[in-house]
Amino acid sequence: MEDDPRRRTPRTDAVLADPAVAVAAERLGRERVKAAVAEALQECRAGRLAPEHVAAYVVETLPTIATSMRRVINATGVVVHTNLGRAPLSSAAVDAVTVAAGATDVELDLATGRRGRRGTVALAALAARVPDAGGVHVVNNGAAALALVACALAAGRRIVVARGELVEIGDGFRIPELLESVGATLHEVGATNRVHLADYEAAVDDDTAFVLKVHPSNFRVEGFTSSVPVDAVADLCRARGVPLVVDIGSGLLAPHPRLPDEPDATTVLRDGATLVTASGDKLLGGPQAGLLLGDVELVERLRRHPLARALRVDKLTLAALEATLSGPPAPVAVALDTPPEELLARARRLALAIGPDLAAAVHSDGRVGGGGAPGVTLPSAAVALPTDLAEPLRHAEPPVVGRVADGRLLLDLLAVPADGDDELADVVRRVAGSVAAERTGG
Ligand SMILES: *Cc1c(COP(=O)(O)O)cnc(C)c1O
Repeated sequence: MEDDPRRRTPRTDAVLADPAVAVAAERLGRERVKAAVAEALQECRAGRLAPEHVAAYVVETLPTIATSMRRVINATGVVVHTNLGRAPLSSAAVDAVTVAAGATDVELDLATGRRGRRGTVALAALAARVPDAGGVHVVNNGAAALALVACALAAGRRIVVARGELVEIGDGFRIPELLESVGATLHEVGATNRVHLADYEAAVDDDTAFVLKVHPSNFRVEGFTSSVPVDAVADLCRARGVPLVVDIGSGLLAPHPRLPDEPDATTVLRDGATLVTASGDKLLGGPQAGLLLGDVELVERLRRHPLARALRVDKLTLAALEATLSGPPAPVAVALDTPPEELLARARRLALAIGPDLAAAVHSDGRVGGGGAPGVTLPSAAVALPTDLAEPLRHAEPPVVGRVADGRLLLDLLAVPADGDDELADVVRRVAGSVAAERTGG
């Protein structure tokens, strides 16, 4: 029969030669596109797809970019959302990554033509932001920074640390187990809720490699509590000739007015810490990285330690870090500095654009997230929608992730860049439209 779709099914080569399909193959690789063509041809043979639509179908089902990771609109109100990849990079950092992705002078001094020190400029940018640090070094993440210090200084020796600071970072990973895994022994002091200077005084001895203070960055102990401030522990450490290492977690480099209880590298170093460790992708707002800041000789010793090579950051990280440190404010910093009134004005405009029958602007409580400032709420604003939009919005393009509270879906604007409002309104209108159409059987 002339009209039998099976007989009219095009050949694979013919579909691959279609200009739009050929462009997709250049972007995604021929194998990937071939698989999509095979699938489309199967649909065609089954009579579910017209032969003349095969090429368009292939292009439509393929992603536009060769990663399965999808850009998501973070409307959760959590600025540093672990499940959404922590800090989003600034566009300056994204541009820097694009340049670094090719052949670059990361380890070549173009002036002399000789080998240059890797990451010099990124490290200088970090040093410039924390003048109190004599030395700086960057490794893969905060955990790597701690592992390096523990391995270099405390293998076969003891680390004095308060019981209440033995933090589980997340996904079942615990700092005490990390330290022990590189051969250190922990000397725990104090009780879960209280530790006193006398506890540290009694614990520090000849076998102490260093005293560690860890910021409880993802939980808060309330009630009958006490901890010893950095400066007091630092005095003790100095008197006994033992280094004090402080894991501040979030990567705040200087005090932030909206986060008065969040430790920052500058203050902690001024208070006498020998070394500070921190993450790059929390409140610093940069790429995943671990920062080591402090005593110049100690940092140099860590940099030269054999394990340092295993924890080395790549050129993409160095590029993004430099742009974060010396470029325009990163999205995390922008979010922290946006006044709540501005967020409310945006929420009102968005609610109007979406439609007042569906959306309302409301006050909201944002949070920093697992990356820091536990228990601190950041005054924010949101667009309130019916909860049954939560799932279809997650499946939208781009996916929108909000949070459900008090029987409403809140799209919190704290972590949504201001230039993303139009797109957000579009997605919500589209999704609400198709949900309504489905309901009326349309
Ligand atoms: C987040 C955090 C870590 C772990 O840092 P990563 O960069 O995730 O490896 C360690 N210590 C504290 C206090 C933290 O908050």
